[in-house]
Amino acid sequence: MTDCLFCKIVAGEIPSTKVFEDEVSYAFRDINPQAPVHVLIVPKEHIASCAELTEANEALVGKIFTNIAKIAKAEGLDKGFRVISNSGDDAGQTVHHLHYHILGGKSMGEGLVP
Ligand code: 5GP
Ligand code: ZN
Repeated sequence: MTDCLFCKIVAGEIPSTKVFEDEVSYAFRDINPQAPVHVLIVPKEHIASCAELTEANEALVGKIFTNIAKIAKAEGLDKGFRVISNSGDDAGQTVHHLHYHILGGKSMGEGLVP
């Protein structure tokens, strides 16, 4: 998609700090980190959010989660980490290209919603 921030990051048109890449996904550091480790992993193909996923995307999503495990290990998140994917307005999604936040490096407690 031409006017999508994360499509431009995947294409290298906007710079990012790469953490991991494979044939279907790209991971990079969040520009405004909410934890000592804050990585975003996105599919290379444009999918707007979790709400748009279909059975056709099952292998892709599985691969992304395997990659999340690899990234967490490489980032030293052996004490734990949190994975978040905001979908739509009520969740506060600001970039409408599916992404998973990987957050770690500090104790985040048990609450999920402020
Ligand atoms: P959302 O609110 O949609 O779940 O998350 C979007 C995330 O993208 C935010 O955490 C925000 O800091 C991050 N972000 C927005 N613009 C950029 C950018 O240009 N580069 C990087 N690396 N992260 C960005
Ligand atoms: Zn996109």
